[in-house]
Amino acid sequence: EEKKSLNFIEAAIEADLAAGKNGGRLNTRFPPEPNGYLHIGHAKAICMDFGVAEKFGGTCNLRFDDTNPVKEDVEYVDSIKEDIHWLGFDWGDRLYYASDYFPKLWDLALRLIKEGKAYVDEQSAEEIAKQKGTPTQPGTPSPYRNRPIEENIDLFERMNRGEFEEGAMVLRAKIDMASPNMHMRDPIMYRIIKHPHHRTGNTWNAYPMYDFAHGQSDYFEGVTHSICTLEFEVHRPLYDWFVDQLADETYRPRQMEFNRLNLTYTVMSKRKLLQLVQEKLVSGWDDPRMPTICGLRRRGYTPRSIRNFIDRIGYTKYDGLISVSLLEHSIREDLNKTANRVSAVLNPVKLIITNYPENQVEYMKAENNPEDESAGFHEIPFTRELYIERDDFMENPPKKFFRMTPGQEVRLKSAYIVKCTGCKKGENGEIEEIYCEYDPLTKSGMPESGRKVKGTLHWVSVEYSKSAEIRLYDRLFCVENPSEEKEKDFRELLNPESLKILNNCRIEPYLFENAKPGDRFQFQRTGYFCVDKDSKPDKLVFNRTVSLKDSWEK
Ligand code: ATP
Ligand code: MG
Ligand code: MG
Repeated sequence: EEKKSLNFIEAAIEADLAAGKNGGRLNTRFPPEPNGYLHIGHAKAICMDFGVAEKFGGTCNLRFDDTNPVKEDVEYVDSIKEDIHWLGFDWGDRLYYASDYFPKLWDLALRLIKEGKAYVDEQSAEEIAKQKGTPTQPGTPSPYRNRPIEENIDLFERMNRGEFEEGAMVLRAKIDMASPNMHMRDPIMYRIIKHPHHRTGNTWNAYPMYDFAHGQSDYFEGVTHSICTLEFEVHRPLYDWFVDQLADETYRPRQMEFNRLNLTYTVMSKRKLLQLVQEKLVSGWDDPRMPTICGLRRRGYTPRSIRNFIDRIGYTKYDGLISVSLLEHSIREDLNKTANRVSAVLNPVKLIITNYPENQVEYMKAENNPEDESAGFHEIPFTRELYIERDDFMENPPKKFFRMTPGQEVRLKSAYIVKCTGCKKGENGEIEEIYCEYDPLTKSGMPESGRKVKGTLHWVSVEYSKSAEIRLYDRLFCVENPSEEKEKDFRELLNPESLKILNNCRIEPYLFENAKPGDRFQFQRTGYFCVDKDSKPDKLVFNRTVSLKDSWEK
């Protein structure tokens, strides 16, 4: 392991700890809103929040930021927990919900009203927005800004009792309508939502806004470093203002920001991902084309490959777009070391070895993983009739075609050298069978086994192979940055070729006898594949995780 220098967040945390801030304590949190499944962008935040706590001997809370009942659900809570664990992190007994703080937040809001720092505004959202002004022009104070305290208390309580319709009024902090920071211009603290909450039911009708809830939740939990993405940088003065209402000199949480992860050829907004799921443009949150953690898992990604990827891209203060090729590189690198090599013929054509005995079977020794001696060997049955890839044969090839063609020798992987003698074609010219002769002296351990031939092909036995379904995936979108397209809705930019299903692939016995859903393999010469949960005992289904080489790189 190369020793990496600290990133800027780690360096700042190290300095805070060295200075003895907050009693030398480190406590981070990962705060997902349970309104969707986690995606690879969240993995970047998880690796930071949990990773930095591990690195400096601190703790990390898992806090569900469940302050908007309309979009939230326990289905999401459960999936988020599963995905964090799968990535290899654990919150132990530090599981929290922002909704648990509703009573405390309420009390604080009441206190701010009583201190003249908050008021109920009966204007519509449009009116409030209009009065906000512009960054260079001060805003206009609401006509309700100086409402008497008793009236504010009364209205706030009635807001929560359900006496008013949604949108009828909001609670705003009274800060500064002329602040150069727009977020400080009397931000909204509470709005009315008449929708049951997945944990608190119908107890509340007034719900806190993110800015009010987040820093206070950090404070209530003893969080010392509240790490989030760059778009919250402009919220930081407001975060601090709210924290000031609670904190003293012995402890205060600090917000820090890093660049979010954006990946090419995909979208990373939960709203858009939800749309893809709801409109059935993908098969579900775990569709192997999705950038979700469960999608990547089903696709065959390992936790290690995702963590290595995140480690490589690092944390900075600049937003950018990361090439998905980098993510694919990480999984290739991992599976190259760990995945057993097997034979699967994706697009089969029959090869008949005319000089090989009819009923003979030889069990050839196939090395499981040349990168890992301890992986051992398995046996693959060799018979007179085999399947090879249709693409591996050409009757009239161009120069430098080192695969199967009449008159040329090739090696059949782990078996013999064969020489092609011809083929049989159907009426439409399609190749139906290919013929060859083998040289018995070229098997491994025999005198001619070292003979030089340029091509090596993979194969399976006709009799001893089984049919399998193989799903080939490509990028979900046709354009590098679908979120940036102005002219078209992102759904019009989906890649129509992102899924191809091959129904009659042939796989060797080692695969169909052993492979369980989730298992990962390298199919010789074609790519890395994993067994899908849709598999049946008599017909396995494989997802292509990634091809062996990057076909998009020129
Ligand atoms: P989305 O924008 O997709 O709805 P979100 O930010 O609303 O995501 P949250 O559940 O609030 O989703 O996110 C939890 C944490 O993950 C936050 O700290 C957020 O900053 C971080 N996060 C979300 N998306 C990314 C990303 N693309 N890269 C890095 N961190 C992210
Ligand atoms: Mg959020
Ligand atoms: Mg968001």
